[in-house]
Parts: sequence; structure tokens; C-alpha cells
Amino acid sequence: DQPLVFDMSYDVNMSKRELENTVSQLMEVEGCNRRATEPFHLHFCNLQPDGAYMRELLKRYSSETWDRLLITSSDRQHVDLFPCDQLVYLTADSPNVLRTFDHSKVYIIGAIVDRSIQPGLSLANAKRLKLATARLPLDEFLRWGTGAKNLTLDQMMRIMLTLKETGNWDEALKQVPTRKHDGFHKHQPQKISENRVKGLKKA
Ligand code: SAM
Repeated sequence: DQPLVFDMSYDVNMSKRELENTVSQLMEVEGCNRRATEPFHLHFCNLQPDGAYMRELLKRYSSETWDRLLITSSDRQHVDLFPCDQLVYLTADSPNVLRTFDHSKVYIIGAIVDRSIQPGLSLANAKRLKLATARLPLDEFLRWGTGAKNLTLDQMMRIMLTLKETGNWDEALKQVPTRKHDGFHKHQPQKISENRVKGLKKA
């Protein structure tokens, strides 16, 4: 199965409440993945055995349940477990747009819920490790209001599962709550940008 990494290095960046929310979202992530027709192989990287995340996970799951889950956890970094050129860090702050889902890549999601948004946290992590980054094409497909483009971990999981199964952004972005946007753009973003190029050429 294609791996999907959750980077568990953010416990120091969260309050107790935020960490509890993150673990609730991760439990939902695990459930959706388990029920999916084409699940990912989930990897929780940077998970410290005596850290705050692990304590919270074991509070929610018994250790027997935890051991039975289809999650490979490790205190090692993703860059030590996968070839760097295969890794793509997903972050809303990336200048690059994810256009197509690549079945040979290992996507990384930051396991963080930040109520008061700390912008650029996961982007900084990716840059420090010199990893490729990408943001979801939210603006390109959806009429987005002014709200933050940071999605929750379970929304990210549903989007990645739909992309893996269908390769279709219209399908995948149906997972974004409709209160966050004002519907899909009428035209395919590819066509819009072609027209823009033509317009530019004429000018
Ligand atoms: N301020 C945090 C940061 O620095 O990433 C926001 C965390 S967001 C709630 C949780 C994770 O979901 C992010 O680390 C990222 O991996 C993923 N994510 C959320 N929205 C995204 C988007 N629009 N594009 C790509 N990844 C996104």
C-alpha cells in the first residue's frame, strides 16, 4: 500500500487542549482509512515513546488496540525512513500547487491542530529538511471566502483517500465543508489559465 505519513513532531507547539483535539482527529483519520476501499499504509513518524502524543494516544486506545491498528509508528523522522525525493510535505503555506495525485509519492501531513493559527510552521519544517512542498488547489477549484485554508486532519485524510481512488479533484474537494466556501468555480481552472495566457499574448 502507498504510505501516508503523519508528522508527530508538533506536540511542543500545542496546548493540552489542542493536542487532545489532534488525537481525536487522528482517531477519525485511522477509522476512515480502515474503512476505505483503497487504504493507505499510515505512518506516524517522530512519535516519541514517552512524549505527550503517545501519552494521549494511549489514554484513548488501550495498548492492545493500539498494537492492532494498521499504523506503523516510529520515533524516527520521515527522512530516515523514505527516500527524500519521494517525500512531499503538504502545507497550506506552500507556493506550489498539488495538481495531480502521484501514487509513487509519500505525502506528509503535519499532525497539528492550531486554534490560533501559527502560519508557516509545517512549511518551515519542510524547508529545514529540504523537502518538496505542495498545497491543495483550494483557490483553483472553489470560490473561497476569507477563511483560513488550513483543513483538519480528518478532512485531509478524506481528500487524500478520494484522490487516491478517483484522481478527481472535483470529487475530492467535496470533502471540504461547504460553510468554508461558496461553491465550485464554473470553469475548470486549466481552461481559465489557458484563456489568461491567450489574453496576455494578445496584449
Ligand atoms: N499552521 C499549521 C501549519 O503550519 O501547517 C496548520 C496545520 S493544519 C490544521 C494540519 C495539517 O494539514 C498541515 O500541517 C498540512 O499538512 C495539512 N493541510 C491543511 N490544509 C492544507 C492545505 N490547504 N494544503 C495542504 N496541506 C494542508
